[in-house]
Amino acid sequence: MCIYLREYARNTACVNPLLTEVGPLQLLRDVIILLLIITNDMYMKTMTCSQLGGPCEEKISGNTADELMMNGMTHLEAAHPQMAADVKAAPEDSPMMVEWSKKFKEDWANTPEDK
Ligand SMILES: [Zn+2]
Repeated sequence: MCIYLREYARNTACVNPLLTEVGPLQLLRDVIILLLIITNDMYMKTMTCSQLGGPCEEKISGNTADELMMNGMTHLEAAHPQMAADVKAAPEDSPMMVEWSKKFKEDWANTPEDK
């Protein structure tokens, strides 16, 4: 739900400067939207490289599961290039990748948000 709210907030905030008429209600709405954006960005989740199947304890964060996965990939490329190459070479529907993706989604759901 948070993700959709944030997307909505970002889209609305982008469109709003184009509106010519700004009444108190719109101002109030903008403030609420801004607060939504700020609070949402504070709710990050952090997992370790080893939780993602990697060999070290580097902390990897993201606002969404996709973002964390992308940041994990960036870390793999920088710190464990051989693993990154193996992951990229594996077909997405291979049993290993399917299993990984299932586990990752469970781990993401079970990881508490950062304080
Ligand atoms: Zn690592």
